[in-house]
Order: sequence, then structure tokens, then C-alpha cells
Amino acid sequence: MAYKIALSPEDRSSNAYHPQALYQGRSTNEHEQMCRCADLLEKELLRCGFAVKNMQYGNMYDRVAEGNGWGADLYIALHTNGFDGTVAGTRVHCYPSDKSRRIGKLIQDRIAPLSPGKSEKLVESSGLYELKATKMAAVLPEFGFHDNREEAQWLVDSMDDIARETAMAVCDFFGVTYVPEAEEAPAVTFEVRQVVNGEVVRTWVVR
Ligand SMILES: [Zn+2]
Repeated sequence: MAYKIALSPEDRSSNAYHPQALYQGRSTNEHEQMCRCADLLEKELLRCGFAVKNMQYGNMYDRVAEGNGWGADLYIALHTNGFDGTVAGTRVHCYPSDKSRRIGKLIQDRIAPLSPGKSEKLVESSGLYELKATKMAAVLPEFGFHDNREEAQWLVDSMDDIARETAMAVCDFFGVTYVPEAEEAPAVTFEVRQVVNGEVVRTWVVR
């Protein structure tokens, strides 16, 4: 049976990204970007054979209840960080259990070298509700600081990479082989001619 992954992207649109970090030519926020991340991550994980619950509704209490009820094997709360605009770097929070630490470190080790900021660390936390009330391994990555201009733009521009690297970390955690996106097969076409008595009576294209 497929491993079950519960995704809980930030629910508050009030966490604004740096106003000069633009997404599709306009300013953005943590809810919008983390829902993007959840959608990209869902696609990656489904391709690798996982079952996914992409919880873009309700608040953290609803989502924890749903993840627990579903019997998820891993709970990932997707976030970006905010402070005063001067700090940047990846900080993954994990519940202080062996399993949660392991997935936390796997994600931290893949994302931190990519994010521009260097204030990075794995943070053990037993106080965050989505880490302490979940029954399965639980992790809360803060992929970067969204109120730092450079890092906010990196977050917006790198969401594909962030989702892919996170999916690879999940694959490592469960010992599942990562399945990359299939490369577009080059189109091969043939032109076929039907010739009768030396005269072309019909041509068509075969793919
Ligand atoms: Zn958040």
C-alpha cells in the first residue's frame, strides 16, 4: 500500500512577501506561495507512488484531525519565515522524535544549500501544534524568509526546485525510488504516400 503524505500549506494570506519580490508581476503572500508549493509537491509525490492529501482548506486544527484520521505516514506543514527583513536562510522545524528528525534533516540538507540566506538550522520543536498533535512523523519546513527581498524572490522563482528537492527527501525517508518527470518524447512523423500506377493518389502523416 502506498505511503500516505499529508500536506498542510500556510493558511494565512496576511503574511505578505517582500513587496518588491514579484510573482507574475505582482506582490504575493505566504498562503499563495505555499499552496503553489503544495500543488507542485503533490504532483511530484503522486508520480513517485505516494498517496497525498493536499489540505488547502480549514485551519491547522482541521488539518491535524484529518491527517490523523486518514492515518498519514508523514505530515508536512509548508511555510516560509518572517522576521525583520534582515535575516535569511532555511530553517526546518521537526518534532523531537527519531523519525521526525530524520525527515527534517533530509529536507534541511537539500534546501538550505539552495536558499540565498545562511542563517539556517534544523530546529527541534515540541511546541508547534502541527508537530506535537500529529501522530505520525511531522515536519515544518520554513524554506526561507519571505520578508527578505532577495530570499523572497528566490522562493517565488524556485518553487519547482523546492518541491522537487522536498519530494526527493520524502523518497529518501521511505526508501522509495524518485521518479523524475518524463522528458517530452521527440515527435517522430512519417509521410506515407499511396502510389497507383506511378501516381500519388493519397498522402498522410503518421506519428
Ligand atoms: Zn507560515
